[in-house]
Amino acid sequence: MTETTDDATPRCRHCDESVADEPNRRVVTSVEDGTAVYYHFCDDDCLEAWES
Ligand SMILES: [Zn+2]
Repeated sequence: MTETTDDATPRCRHCDESVADEPNRRVVTSVEDGTAVYYHFCDDDCLEAWES
């Protein structure tokens, strides 16, 4: 049996904090090389900071 924990506690792309307990967390879907990639953020502030 193999446990997969990759998606259990995603971390903010901007500040590297766990977003598991963030009520305002944001997820951005991007496609890179034909593969869907999910970017997680604590909230809009981290998302905007990462985009700029
Ligand atoms: Zn953050």
